[in-house]
Amino acid sequence: MRKILVVGAGQSGLQLALGLQSRGYEITLMSNRTADEIRSGRVMSTQCMFHTALQHERDLQLGFWESQAPRIEGLGVSVTGPDSTRAVDWVGTLDGYAQSVDQRVKMAGWMETFAQRGGQLVIHGAAVSDLDYFSRTYDLVLVSAGKGELVSMFGRDASRSPYDTPQRALAVAYVHGLGPRPEHPDYDAVRCNLVPGVGELFVMPTLTTSGRADILFWEGVPGGPLDVFRGIKDPAEHLSLTLELMERFTPWEYARATKVELTDANATLAGRYAPTVRHPVGRLPGGGLALGVADVVVANDPITGQGSNSASKCAASYLESIVAHGDRPFDEAWMQTAFDRYWETARHVTKWTNAMLGVPPEHVLNLIGAAGGLPPVADRFANGFNDPADFENFFYEPEKTNAYLAEVSGAVGAGA
Ligand SMILES: Cc1cc2nc3c(=O)[nH]c(=O)nc-3n(C[C@H](O)[C@H](O)[C@H](O)COP(=O)(O)OP(=O)(O)OC[C@H]3O[C@@H](n4cnc5c(N)ncnc54)[C@H](O)[C@@H]3O)c2cc1C
Repeated sequence: MRKILVVGAGQSGLQLALGLQSRGYEITLMSNRTADEIRSGRVMSTQCMFHTALQHERDLQLGFWESQAPRIEGLGVSVTGPDSTRAVDWVGTLDGYAQSVDQRVKMAGWMETFAQRGGQLVIHGAAVSDLDYFSRTYDLVLVSAGKGELVSMFGRDASRSPYDTPQRALAVAYVHGLGPRPEHPDYDAVRCNLVPGVGELFVMPTLTTSGRADILFWEGVPGGPLDVFRGIKDPAEHLSLTLELMERFTPWEYARATKVELTDANATLAGRYAPTVRHPVGRLPGGGLALGVADVVVANDPITGQGSNSASKCAASYLESIVAHGDRPFDEAWMQTAFDRYWETARHVTKWTNAMLGVPPEHVLNLIGAAGGLPPVADRFANGFNDPADFENFFYEPEKTNAYLAEVSGAVGAGA
């Protein structure tokens, strides 16, 4: 039986560990926290996952919370105009619903399942020296430790990393008591509110440790009016600042939020990181090798809500690459090939996410504006969150955007 070490128990590490376990591999999973510590700890993400990523979980029978988590049927975009008016406002329908299950619920639950199924769970914050030792006793070492210190084993790929500093300051609050959206009271959607030059507010439902909740998530341009959460330790202060900014920049969202309260004492998160693509093969001091997984090798800004989706897609892709390799050695060439196969999906996510971090060019503003009057455009944009490769067809180049808009306008005008 092949022995594999998985370091880091997040979306990608747990999905891979459970997937490999079900295929008969002998898996050791190393986590720096116990399931209870994760469950009672701080929120980590907003983790909205779209159809394809959720399907990878279902394929492994891991969609444990699917019936309890709110079904996110649509994705809406609003743009703040002058005097905080709502210059653009539309909702696109997702072909398959999205869901957000608080990572505290999911990772704790999956970790317990892994152990119950006989997996070896080691609670230990791994250092490079540990991996050096383990690389001699395991057939393969996978590092799925997110954006933690172990990324230092993997060199930054400057050719694929256009930014070397954080592009947004992040501030998350999980709340109970958010009112329904008046125009769609029974329809759950992710709401992306774009405040030009300032940042974005994302609002979405989730399943957290205390049941259904909503997430208020500000992404602020560094140094701008939303970049004010650094150093705030008091969760109540974090929430009131979140609400103040909503009142100022997105009053239509604030109107629903006047009665909210935090879900728990660890319901807030603030931070920032530079989006970074890394070389996938880590070389250990003793000569051993490790393969980087998900955020370790491709960490995008959460502005497009793709990291957990990508972690699921990376885990699914690596699982196939590992199984297809049979009993042959997991050498450097195989590691590079496994990553290259994942990069075919990830490169579209990175390109689109990095584009969304910049100042939108005129044709993109036109596209987002036009979606308000052209439902097929709104739907296609929304479904791009599930499959960002589609943006190649209508988003980046003005000619393609214009041709697409002309085509849809013609079809809609002709009553097609
Ligand atoms: C504010 C915010 C909002 C987000 N919103 C979304 C969203 O809506 N949709 C979406 O798809 N993505 C979103 N993301 C991104 C998403 O959360 C991450 O990309 C995803 O969790 C990455 O999964 P991963 O498995 O690579 O790493 P992680 O989920 O980060 O898991 C890594 C695990 O390894 C552990 N670890 C770290 N170091 C060690 C060590 N030395 N030894 C042992 N264990 C270790 C960590 O504690 C953690 O449990 C968001 C991120 C942030 C910060």
